[in-house]
Amino acid sequence: MIIAVYPGSFDPITNGHIDIATRAAKIFGKVIFGVFRTPDKRLLFTTEERIELARKSLSHLRNVEVMPFSGLTVQFAREVNAHVMVRGLRMGADFEREFEMAMMNKKLFPDLEMVCFMASQEYQFLSSSLLKEVAALDGNISYLVPPHVADAIRIKTGKKC
Ligand code: ADP
Repeated sequence: MIIAVYPGSFDPITNGHIDIATRAAKIFGKVIFGVFRTPDKRLLFTTEERIELARKSLSHLRNVEVMPFSGLTVQFAREVNAHVMVRGLRMGADFEREFEMAMMNKKLFPDLEMVCFMASQEYQFLSSSLLKEVAALDGNISYLVPPHVADAIRIKTGKKC
């Protein structure tokens, strides 16, 4: 069985991330959705909150497991026996950064293959950071995240977005 890790900050999970996880789950035997334990102060949600939001959003996918991790992503991949790393590529913005990371990760863990999924058209311009900016300005975000994530953003920001 091929195990894949899909790592990220997921602050919070969006429909774009769910789309990638759903498509990866159709191809790989198991997908470990790795939530990076970044220092919480820079993020809107704590690690535990990000995990909870992701678990609820992905609970319908039987072969997707949400797990926190810290340190190098390749080390996490080793620990969970993954030989594939999944990433999403949006038009323009992601390519150079992902390419750079892929080259470095290849040196660190040569047996780990990076598989990039092209972002779906409707989510090309969706990022967690843009979502938070729109929410902070009371813009409607309900079509970009599942309802429970939109509620969590409203509670956290005190906005009516
Ligand atoms: P990171 O902190 O690693 O950038 P993110 O949570 O922003 O974490 O994203 C995790 C992964 O999901 C990255 O590969 C990113 O390119 C991808 N991604 C983010 N938003 C989208 C989207 N709208 N459509 C497809 N992939 C996306």
